[in-house]
Amino acid sequence: MRNFGFGGMRLPLLDENDPKSIDQNEVNRMVDLFISKGFTYFDNAYIYHSGESESAYKKAIVDRYPRNSFLIADKMPTMAVKCPEDYEKFFARQLERLGIDYFDYYLLHNIGHKTYEESEKWGGFDFLVKKKAEGKIKKIGFSFHDTPELLDEVLSKHPEIDFVQIQLNYIDWNNAAIRSRECLDTARKHGKPVSVMEPVKGGGLASLPEKAEKILKKADPQMSIPSWGIRFAASCDGVFMVLSGMKSVEQVRDNTSFMENFKPLTADEKNMLTGTVTGIINESVYIPCTACRYCTDGCPKNINIPSYFAIYNNYKLYGMRNFPMMHYRKQSFGHGLASDCIECKQCEIHCPQHIEITKYLKEIAADFEK
Ligand code: SF4
Ligand code: SF4
Repeated sequence: MRNFGFGGMRLPLLDENDPKSIDQNEVNRMVDLFISKGFTYFDNAYIYHSGESESAYKKAIVDRYPRNSFLIADKMPTMAVKCPEDYEKFFARQLERLGIDYFDYYLLHNIGHKTYEESEKWGGFDFLVKKKAEGKIKKIGFSFHDTPELLDEVLSKHPEIDFVQIQLNYIDWNNAAIRSRECLDTARKHGKPVSVMEPVKGGGLASLPEKAEKILKKADPQMSIPSWGIRFAASCDGVFMVLSGMKSVEQVRDNTSFMENFKPLTADEKNMLTGTVTGIINESVYIPCTACRYCTDGCPKNINIPSYFAIYNNYKLYGMRNFPMMHYRKQSFGHGLASDCIECKQCEIHCPQHIEITKYLKEIAADFEK
């Protein structure tokens, strides 16, 4: 198995306004090219393309290739589970949509504070163990979108888990809201192999400010801009798989060209991405918060100011692609919301960047709490 996987979240569409209108002919061509290059791992989820992505995989992969020539990873829609019986129901539907009788990799989807609580309540982890014992799943895991502290808690409680999927890319490596590096370190501390989602930040790292692109083109003129995101993730110790949600044959061609004979980035190249290049991208950042957290201790409403600012900056930079409202809700768990601010201005007194914190909190409340 090579360390590059095909993601089923952003398949090509016939009508860009209809997520169900998958261009099956293009998907088939993409799959053929991907497999012809020696890659075998296909990732999906119950909810992708409003339920149509799994069926598209059946048509492109399962119906056209022998079962032992590819690997399928799929995810339980934890947010839709409302009782223990739902696990069996969704699982059976997924096998049917895909036309297979076992999963190579199977994950609880999108574990965060709320979905973790619910998965514990309804027996989600026990369900995975049971299906693995029945031979219906080879490797069990979960995808994760929360803090390294919570990841540590989940992995401490569930050593039976075989692998973890996290968001990891060079711009989120030290980002205060995403904390990719710390999440990776946490998974490695528990000895869990990691698969990576969002290596190109949902397409946000496919084109960069001109200054940043010049640096990357000078460093290696042969390599595309998105390749840096994928190669960065694949170069991190502990990562066994990097997923990319591709939309065209051209993207499959580019990605497989450098992953076919993958050469890890050097330490200097990695530092260039997480340092200079990230710095240039962040220069275009809306709120110049450095996440020093000088503002948070005295806040009477315990507002998670730097995390909210990091999420809002992502939103301003990349638009709606990175689910900023979902991140905002997660980061506000156990904290005051932006709208809870009473404008005492304690925080602004302490901010070394002289940021008008109350002004931005109002904007965040208006955009994320509507
Ligand atoms: S102004 Fe708002 S955010 Fe700042 S310390 Fe007071 S309540 Fe907290
Ligand atoms: S004190 Fe200012 S720079 Fe530091 S985390 Fe708070 S808002 Fe950001």
